[in-house]
This record gives sequence, C-alpha cells and structure tokens, in this order.
Amino acid sequence: MSRFLIPRLSTLDAYVPGEQPRGRTFIKLNTNESPFPPAPGALEAISRAETERLNLYPDPNASALEEAIAARFRLPRTQVIAGNGSDELLAFCFQAFCGGVCFADITYGLYTVLAKLYGADAREIPLADDFRLVPEDYDGAGRTVFLANPNAPTGLYLPPSQVEHILRKNPDSLVIVDEAYIDFGGESAAPLLARYDNLLIVQTFSKSRSLAGARIAFALGSTALIDDLRRVKFSFNPYSLSRLAIVAGAAAMADEPYFAACTQAVIETRAFAASEFRARGFDVADSVANFLFVRPPCLTGRKYTEELRARGVLVRHFAKPRIDSFVRITIGTPEQMRALLDATDNYLEESSWTGAQR
Ligand code: PMP
Repeated sequence: MSRFLIPRLSTLDAYVPGEQPRGRTFIKLNTNESPFPPAPGALEAISRAETERLNLYPDPNASALEEAIAARFRLPRTQVIAGNGSDELLAFCFQAFCGGVCFADITYGLYTVLAKLYGADAREIPLADDFRLVPEDYDGAGRTVFLANPNAPTGLYLPPSQVEHILRKNPDSLVIVDEAYIDFGGESAAPLLARYDNLLIVQTFSKSRSLAGARIAFALGSTALIDDLRRVKFSFNPYSLSRLAIVAGAAAMADEPYFAACTQAVIETRAFAASEFRARGFDVADSVANFLFVRPPCLTGRKYTEELRARGVLVRHFAKPRIDSFVRITIGTPEQMRALLDATDNYLEESSWTGAQR
C-alpha cells in the first residue's frame, strides 16, 4: 500500500475472483461460466471486417446491442442500458443511487466490496437457517435493496410474487434485482417494471449466453433510472463496451433457439448432478442457477475443494461463516459432471469413507 491511498480504502479487501488457471487444463467448475461456446452468430459477428475497425472507437451507445436487448424484452430502448459485465453496472448503481444499502448476509461478495469502495453504509440482513430469504425482513428497509435472484452462492430463488412484496414494502427505495442466474429456471421480475418505478434489473451475458470473456451485461428499469445510469456511464467510461462485444452480444441476444438449448441442457444436467450428490450423502440446496451448493459428508468444504483440485477439477469454496462447510459447483457438460463425480468417488474410496448407500 502506498502512502497516497486515501484512508477509506486502506481497509478495503478487494473482491477475490475465482481462479482462472493458465497452463494446466482443469475441469473448470469454479466461476459459473457456460460450458458451451458462444452462439454461432456471435462468433461470426466478430468478423475480420469488425476486427479491422478496432482502430476506431466503438459506438458509445452500444446501439446494436441495446436494441437487441430491448426487442427481446419488448421494452423501449430508453429502458435499457448495456455495460461491461454486471459488475460494472452494479458499480454504477452504487455511484448513482447508494448512500445506504442492504443485502443478505450470504450473497454475491462484490456488494460488500462496492459498498466499501463507494462509501455506502451497508446493512446485512441474515438469511434464514436454511438460507431462504424472508421477504418480510426487508419491509420498510429505508435504503437501497440489493437482491441476487437466484441468490449466489446458494442458488435459491424468490418467485416474482415475493420480489413484488419487497417492491411494495419499499416504495421510496430502489430495489436492484441482480438476475445473473435467472435463465436457468427462474422467472424474471422484468414484467414488474410496468408497475414499479423503484425496480432495476441487472442481467448478464456471462452465464446463459456463453460470453463471460466478452464482458457484457445490461440493466432494465424506468427511463429515468436508466438515464441516471447513463449519466454515470458517460462520466466514467463512455466506451465501456468494445466493438467486438457490441456485435457479439447483439447476435447472441437474437439467437433464441441456441439460448434455449444451452439453458435447457444446464437445467437437465443440474437435476442429474443433484441426484448423484444426494445419493452420496451430500446436502444439496435447491438451486435454480447454473451451479449447485453442496455440503459434503464427513469432510470440510475446503478439504473437498483441495481434493478435487488435486484430481484436476476446480470448484469454489468460500471461507465465510455459515457457508464454510459448503462448496459451489458450476454445472458443466454431463461429461464434466461425470468426471467431477468420479473424482469425488475416487477421494471417498481412498479415504475409505463409508457413508450413505449409492
Ligand atoms: N452477479 C452475481 C450474483 C454473480 O454471481 C456474478 C458473477 N460473478 C455477477 C453478478 C457478475 O457477472 P458479470 O460481471 O460477469 O456480468
């Protein structure tokens, strides 16, 4: 740390992303990426012609992309803003809207980091013992609410009626619903935009649209809210989406059949993997996301993560109170999940664990 860092940031613990290995090939189930390649049209859009235009700045309005998103959600273009990943849009939200914020004690770790970075007063609201979010706990919150739905890293999901409860009980506070994982079986709160001007939805192309490496996300909200975010974006980094991201994102958003096939495959593989883990005596949360949150029997979350790593499989462990004994496992292809289960069995056999029947 230099002597020039402002005091507030001297105690900031930066967000620690999951490992992105270089060199050794792992089965990578640690950062909730899609196991499938981007839509064919997205790959074609990153054409030689577009690449040759990289000497020119991109469209600061990301028009082609925002139009494709608006069309998909049947919203006017003025209710859509694209960003460089939802992490960027969430940061814009903190800059634009957040003096005081609240969110669950177990949720996406970046919220805490952003609160500290932008000097917001953050209140954590504990989830129930079974990690369910109790909507009534947010009644009259009196501050901006951040809600990851489905939640991370649990995968648990609130149906729109419960999101609506939170909106209704907080008419003068903004409710930001982070729907990074909504496409794997959840129902978006987007239809509620017509009735609630305090709702802002953030979605990403990183999971269900196989474009984590392109850094593309978007927010949906009232024209006034989106104008506010645009004000921040144009004051911070007007060209936050690259030319290649804009064309690839627009093409990916337009390919509904590919999106449907990929998300359906993940949903089916999730059901298979969940039942296999349950058969081995693991606790498995009811995930509606592209990952499972599991507690292995008779070994710690950290140890299980290490043993899998030694066998070439990466998963994510969070050394945090309440969830220390769990690991989060991204849903990959059926073959990847089979390899994960084989690695698990291999460890269980080596350690001669005699648990539940399988
Ligand atoms: N929200 C949640 C709940 C997440 O888990 C993630 C992934 N780390 C993000 C947002 C960020 O996604 P991205 O910046 O890739 O859009």
